[in-house]
Parts: sequence; structure tokens; C-alpha cells
Amino acid sequence: MSDTIFAKIIRREIPAQIVFEDDHVLAFKDIHAQAPVHVLFIPKKPIATLNDLQDGDAELAGRLLLAAAAYAKREGFAENGYRVVFNCNGDGGQTVFHIHLHLLAGRALSWPPG
Ligand code: AMP
Repeated sequence: MSDTIFAKIIRREIPAQIVFEDDHVLAFKDIHAQAPVHVLFIPKKPIATLNDLQDGDAELAGRLLLAAAAYAKREGFAENGYRVVFNCNGDGGQTVFHIHLHLLAGRALSWPPG
């Protein structure tokens, strides 16, 4: 997989507003926030798209969800609610080919998406 802007953030080669990190997951604020809260949760392991997830990545994928839910509770908006989104490839709107969970919150989010 080719290098991405998110790999550069993991290596601290470009700045980001990091809000959570552990051995497996990094989370930082989206540079073009679509809601009052818009945080991206990424695995430190480079995986291009959801299509590239393997059975062996099941725990890692779960870690992204758990980290997002823990962040929502910690920041106090879990009860009001939030949305998590993975975009995949062209029709999904994916622009950065290192999988990432979008966590959106802080306002009522319309459904269905456009
Ligand atoms: P996607 O369209 O699902 O691939 O989402 C990529 C997201 O990465 C977009 O919401 C961008 O705003 C965000 N993004 C791109 N570059 C950066 C950056 N340097 N720091 C933070 N977020 C970024």
C-alpha cells in the first residue's frame, strides 16, 4: 500500500490534533469538520480500505469501534448520540486510503445521507 497522509500523521511528520492514542489506534480531529465533533480513528497498521480487512484484523477493527465509543462517553455526548462512518472506495466517498472511522457528533445528523 502506498504511503498516505495518515501514515505521515502516525509518524508525526505532519501535525494533527491528536485526541487519543494507544498501541494500536490513533485518533485526531478531522481537518474539515462536518459537525461540531468530527474525529477520525485509524489503526496504526496501514490497511487501505475495508475491502482489505482480513480475519486477523477483527480485533483491530473492534478496537476502532471501542475507542470511538469510549471517546464519546469521555467527552459527554454518548447519551445525546453520534454517528460512526467508514467510507469505502469511490462511491463511498473515500479519499484517504488508510481505513478510518469518522465519529460525528454535536448536532442532529440527517438520515439518510446524501
Ligand atoms: P474519507 O473521505 O472518508 O477518505 O475521509 C478522509 C478525511 O480525512 C476527510 O474528512 C478529510 O477532511 C480528512 N483529512 C484529510 N487530511 C487531513 C489531515 N491532514 N488532518 C486531519 N484530517 C484530514
